[in-house]
Amino acid sequence: MTNETMKIPQATAKRLPLYYRFIQNLYASGKQRVSSAELSEAVKVDSATIRRDFSYFGALGKKGYGYNVNYLLTFFRKTLDQDELTKVALIGVGNLGTAFLNYNFLKNNNTKITCAFDVDPNKMGTTIGDVPVYHMDDLEKYITEENVQVAILTVPAPVAQIITDRLVSAEVKGILNFTPARLNIPSSIRVHHIDLAVELQSLVYFLKHYPTAEIAE
Ligand code: ATP
Repeated sequence: MTNETMKIPQATAKRLPLYYRFIQNLYASGKQRVSSAELSEAVKVDSATIRRDFSYFGALGKKGYGYNVNYLLTFFRKTLDQDELTKVALIGVGNLGTAFLNYNFLKNNNTKITCAFDVDPNKMGTTIGDVPVYHMDDLEKYITEENVQVAILTVPAPVAQIITDRLVSAEVKGILNFTPARLNIPSSIRVHHIDLAVELQSLVYFLKHYPTAEIAE
């Protein structure tokens, strides 16, 4: 992110990719403007939050006109560094890891898994979804040589921290952690944690206990 966008609150920043995807679709369909109500309906964020978020982007919607799609598209592209490809490494080519390798992230944004790593001799040396799978011994080498900035962790939880320590030494900037392990990392590195089992359990819990409640964004 550029310095200019540093002042965007984190909650707003998290919604950026969501807005970006919708604005891309609008642009592709030839729409030149969009109202906060339309945006709200499409991305399921209330329109007051959208107006506040967009004011951070310098996008001030005009009454009766809405927001300029072109302006928003340019802003999101620049802010999310979409003009530059971010290379991603995937560690752990199990069921989940394999699914990610087969998924084309480039469709929606400018990130690409360029290399994968595993300890299983049956997986090393193979190519899945165009992505080569390398030996864990070569982790630091490829991360440095290919200037990989982000790593996706889909390994068993007990080995997550030791691999994280290696990723930190290899100077990755961010880790998307799909393991249930809570990782110790220096404050200079960002970790986003997605525990699918917990998310699913939480959804089921909410369905049971708050069946008709409004969901706060
Ligand atoms: P998933 O949890 O993605 O469904 P799985 O059940 O197929 O995967 P896991 O045991 O969770 O398998 O392991 C995920 C992958 O991580 C496997 O391919 C395994 O070989 C790999 N793996 C295990 N230990 C390490 C390690 N220390 N370094 C790198 N990869 C590892």
